[in-house]
Amino acid sequence: MTTAYQKPLPQVTPEMAPFWAAARRHELVVQRCRGCGAHRFPARDLCSRCLSRDAEWTRVSGKGTVFTWAVMHQVYHPGFAGEVPYAVVVIELDEGARLVSNLVDCPVDTVTAGMPVEVVFEDVTPDVTLPKFRPRAAR
Ligand code: ZN
Repeated sequence: MTTAYQKPLPQVTPEMAPFWAAARRHELVVQRCRGCGAHRFPARDLCSRCLSRDAEWTRVSGKGTVFTWAVMHQVYHPGFAGEVPYAVVVIELDEGARLVSNLVDCPVDTVTAGMPVEVVFEDVTPDVTLPKFRPRAAR
């Protein structure tokens, strides 16, 4: 018997559908501006650097660093009851885009700013895969 996934699932908007489709393939993609080359996340119509509306989805390395984080001590959703305390992190990818995720294989008291991380993929339902991050050795 399998236990149903108890946490909230992402709402897959048309703008973000390519990201979630790639995650299911265990690939991390972000938008890249065709005007200036800047990577960005989440999907936006307009580049905040050069104002171009021309963008494409591109696969990125999945490597980055912890930009900042917060440790959740309260249970805001019953699905997380068995996990507190856990860290919600902002990852700065090597390509420059930042995204919010969780850390795995990392006790919350060992999280540091600038800590090197890499993406891992968690298949939480048959339709949804969540990109998460784990510590990796520094270059
Ligand atoms: Zn741009």
